Amino acid sequence: MLLSERVKELYSSLSENFRGNLLKPESDGYQEASCIWNGMVARTPALIARCADVADLQAAIRSAASLDVLTAVRCGGHSLAGFGTCDGGMAIDLSRMRQVTVDASARSARFGGGCLLGSVDAVTQAQGLAFPAGVVSHTGASGLILGGGFGWLTRLCGLSCDNITGFRLVTADGSVVHADAKENADLFWALRGGGGNFGVVTKFEATLHPVSSVLLGTAFCGEADIALMLRRWREFMPDAPDNLKWNISLRCAQPSDNLPPKYLVRPVAQQFVLWVGDPDQGRPHVERALSICRHVAVNLQPMSFLALQTMADHEFPHGRRYYTKSGYFRTLDDSSIKKMVEATAEIPSPMTQVELAYLGGAAARIPAGETAFGDRSSPFVVNLLGNWSRPAEDSANISWVQNLFAAIRPAMTPGVYINFMSGDEDDRTPEAYRERWDRLVAVKSKYDPNNFFRLNQNIPPKREKEQSANSR
Ligand SMILES: Cc1cc2nc3c(=O)[nH]c(=O)nc-3n(C[C@H](O)[C@H](O)[C@H](O)COP(=O)(O)OP(=O)(O)OC[C@H]3O[C@@H](n4cnc5c(N)ncnc54)[C@H](O)[C@@H]3O)c2cc1C
Repeated sequence: MLLSERVKELYSSLSENFRGNLLKPESDGYQEASCIWNGMVARTPALIARCADVADLQAAIRSAASLDVLTAVRCGGHSLAGFGTCDGGMAIDLSRMRQVTVDASARSARFGGGCLLGSVDAVTQAQGLAFPAGVVSHTGASGLILGGGFGWLTRLCGLSCDNITGFRLVTADGSVVHADAKENADLFWALRGGGGNFGVVTKFEATLHPVSSVLLGTAFCGEADIALMLRRWREFMPDAPDNLKWNISLRCAQPSDNLPPKYLVRPVAQQFVLWVGDPDQGRPHVERALSICRHVAVNLQPMSFLALQTMADHEFPHGRRYYTKSGYFRTLDDSSIKKMVEATAEIPSPMTQVELAYLGGAAARIPAGETAFGDRSSPFVVNLLGNWSRPAEDSANISWVQNLFAAIRPAMTPGVYINFMSGDEDDRTPEAYRERWDRLVAVKSKYDPNNFFRLNQNIPPKREKEQSANSR
């Protein structure tokens, strides 16, 4: 049977009891519902199943699996590769599953598999608590956590996946399964970093941390000083307190940066030095960081955690065109620094940038085998983020990212963060997991033997034959 006929059958099998919305291309609201964050990825699912509850989700998965309908799963739709949608098949949309409950005395929360980071922050912050996650509030919590998840609190509290104590999910046969340290421990291990390979998470059980205000230092470093600044940042971070997180963006200065004219349209390093905790205690640390070399437009500002978490939202709007390549460095070598600074002078779009972050801290203290998440031993993360508006600029921006990546890749340590991978990097998925790969394949083969969940950084199951040969 053709895919279009199977989708028709899927629709009629679901339509009677489905409590959420089933949207076909001709339905009201389909157009909006079919768009994902990356404007480079325009796909047309034949059916969008916006599930209202777990029963809807089970029905959608069971029917699609039995009819062999290609299925995408979407929480926030931020997958750079566009895995939250597909052509011709079904997209499961979890946006109606955004319930969040907090137990303030236990410092824990439960939240639904469709939550955005902002949905979680709004409820947890009302109790002065925070879940460690990413830096843009319209990112989906599910994709971010399942891939690992890092942000402002990573050095103090660990990765997002390190702060999950239990998952509830619907697996490929439609069963509801719970995974924690005691129950289905193999799955619990795999879900913390292994992405969307094992089922659709409907509920996360999470550890929260007390966080109220923070102190943010911002500044710019001009072109002539960037290389020196990066070398000093490289020396500074290994001994920095866990409360201090320092992110850097290399890009070209814009009029909106309000810098003196000589900086305009020339490379700058924009600094974000954050202290999590008492601002008075943090001030000397942030000042020290910003004194390691010449900075302009220095500003220190206590702010609420919610303000911090939404500060970058406008820089990454839905529908713009994005392309990335990313990797880790054990230490940032002088030659790579030079290449990044030189390439910044040639950036083709004012929004395109090189993002640099240093992990370490609590994230690095979790033993390597404890979760499926890839490398924790190389603290420097570099993300080359192409960000532009017009299709005519695709080639210039993609080439810029690819050329710089090719130049600095030899100095990187093997490994990649799956959540920073573009759609043309399938071959890097084993690189992301390396010594964890076989264990992940075993868990995948157990919970999704037919690879129903394959629109992700895919871990293919062992084929049936191989499985039975191995078990003989
Ligand atoms: C603007 C922006 C900012 C970002 N900032 C950060 C950051 O600060 N830190 C960081 O670590 N990452 C960050 N990322 C990367 C982000 O973690 C990934 O893009 C992530 O995949 C987004 O998750 P999502 O749910 O929004 O995406 P989606 O496209 O909805 O899903 C991504 C993947 O997860 C799967 N999936 C989604 N929901 C579920 C579910 N409930 N159960 C099982 N599988 C599911 C999907 O099938 C897909 O394979 C950022 C991305 C963007 C676009």
